[in-house]
Amino acid sequence: MKPPYFKVTGRCDTGCPVDTFEVERKQVVKTSTSGQPYTISRLVCPRCNAWGTVTKIEEVKA
Ligand SMILES: [Zn+2]
Repeated sequence: MKPPYFKVTGRCDTGCPVDTFEVERKQVVKTSTSGQPYTISRLVCPRCNAWGTVTKIEEVKA
């Protein structure tokens, strides 16, 4: 993925072999159904597909 994008670190809490994982996202702010913008706080673990917790969001600039 070309910058700018965000490197998002997540933590899996299910006890699967993945402890932390990193994904790249173009956008980390989403709009809720009520129209309020919010920053993503959960990520799907690539190994077990359970919801993990976002621990770090790092902006990668162009
Ligand atoms: Zn997992």
